[in-house]
Amino acid sequence: MSNAAASGGGDFLSDFTRPDDSEMSDISVFSDYPFEIRPSDGRGMGAFATRDVAPGEIVLVDYTSISIVDSGLIKDCETIADLYESLYPDEQEKWEALAATANERHTTATRWVYSRPRSDGTSYPKEKQEKYTMLKLQFNCNGFDMLQGGSALFLDASRFNHSCDPNLWYDVDTMDNRWVGRANRKINEGEEIFVSYIPENRTRDVRQKSLKGWGFDCTCPKCSEGIDTYSASLETARDIANRVEPDRGRSPPVYGNTTDDIGKRIDRHIEILRDLSQKQGRPNEDKSIQKELVFA
Ligand SMILES: [Zn+2]
Repeated sequence: MSNAAASGGGDFLSDFTRPDDSEMSDISVFSDYPFEIRPSDGRGMGAFATRDVAPGEIVLVDYTSISIVDSGLIKDCETIADLYESLYPDEQEKWEALAATANERHTTATRWVYSRPRSDGTSYPKEKQEKYTMLKLQFNCNGFDMLQGGSALFLDASRFNHSCDPNLWYDVDTMDNRWVGRANRKINEGEEIFVSYIPENRTRDVRQKSLKGWGFDCTCPKCSEGIDTYSASLETARDIANRVEPDRGRSPPVYGNTTDDIGKRIDRHIEILRDLSQKQGRPNEDKSIQKELVFA
């Protein structure tokens, strides 16, 4: 979740050192998965498909040991510092590369905690206090709420930027601390992969307000066109098309409410339905179609 990096976290964060591009390059490729991390226009870093991804395909399975149970700021800060020190260097680098946003009051409180003795009477090393403060803010910005309470940081899953019309849906298995992301439609090679940080069915104004917590204004197609929700029939048509046509991506086009646009929308529905009926009438032509039908 690196959107916030683009818009910055405010002046009070400016005294933290931020990773530069040369540090990022060593951790930018996850070769086992069909995406790579590289700069995303206006969004800091983002995840981009390195090949075509079929609907339903698993894009990332991420496990984590970085979780806290919300025991109050002082205890949570201790846990964060201990967890960070327990990680391998490459994991530490991924954590350090994440975006952070926070209000000034929270930043000051966190910095104060790390300047104080720990519960066992020892002190945080002076040279690490600012780093721990930043790590805690990065955790707050990128942590996923867990069903049993508390939150967890998935270092690779945190690299996906936000869209209100994401092409990746995810589940968090709170028993195994596992995050699984699947393509919800065809993702083309080179396309950025997005998750939604918030429920997708909210109105545009509510979405924009919720996303302030991450420190950015969403400019996804839905938000920039002022769309509250895509029509259910169009989404259903897209879902069906994805299942029987795994090699043809379907994104709902964005139309306004003029007579001309409504006409285009109806034409689009007809086109999708015509394609569908043709494919379903000749199911043996394409083995990949059969495979997807089995999956569905
Ligand atoms: Zn949006």
